[in-house]
Amino acid sequence: CASSAKFFVGGNWKCNGSVANVAKLVDELNAGTIPRGVDVVVAPPFIYIDYVMQHLDRDKYQLSAQNAWIGGNGAFTGEVSAEQLTDFGVPWVILGHSERRSLFGESNEVVAKKTSHALAAGLGVIACIGETLEQRNSGSVFKVLDAQMDALVDEVKDWTKVVLAYEPVWAIGTGVVASPEQAQEVHAYLRQYCAKKLGAAVADKLRIIYGGSVSDTNCKDLSKQEDIDGFLVGGASLKGAAFVTICNAA
Ligand code: PGA
Repeated sequence: CASSAKFFVGGNWKCNGSVANVAKLVDELNAGTIPRGVDVVVAPPFIYIDYVMQHLDRDKYQLSAQNAWIGGNGAFTGEVSAEQLTDFGVPWVILGHSERRSLFGESNEVVAKKTSHALAAGLGVIACIGETLEQRNSGSVFKVLDAQMDALVDEVKDWTKVVLAYEPVWAIGTGVVASPEQAQEVHAYLRQYCAKKLGAAVADKLRIIYGGSVSDTNCKDLSKQEDIDGFLVGGASLKGAAFVTICNAA
């Protein structure tokens, strides 16, 4: 991490946890030391957000949701709106995660619209992009990323509350982490893309974080890369000690 941005680590708990597990994880996180200059955000399933908000040390950790509805309140059974998240005091939301894209059919346009709506509602957004293994093997990584980024750039006017998460789909939950060089290559590409489309000042301040099988053992080498400004962590965020180690990788 060599850009002017503050290191950022997100913990995406996905659809994991139980009342007992969440209480244990919160205790483990509260016992950890988080360096002052790092933003750490944890994203529990909606149903546990209230508990986590009340029990987690919020001098160290901020809260995030894992998804939000594309629009405001209304007749949208099963959804939670960005307005409700802000109303409840949740400052962040993860949008466009590859599992939302592949399992729930969220297109680049839907992700971009969700992002601009959430920003307008006052949330910070961790916006996720990344290619599949098939796309990487066929040499279309940058084409795929361009399409995902173009949709975001069309919708998002103010990038100050966006954190961009590069998560190659082939690395998510597989134990196959991108090498520091592979990740750096894409992060540098994304920063150049942003410099071209949004200006150098925006590109330099934008946090571009890496996700996909980040662990307490591989985080150090990744964090040394110039354009890696933090991590989005899935599996390892469910283990308090490992996650705290990752938060200390900068
Ligand atoms: P993983 O998940 O760390 O378990 O690979 C990352 C993510 O999906 O954000």
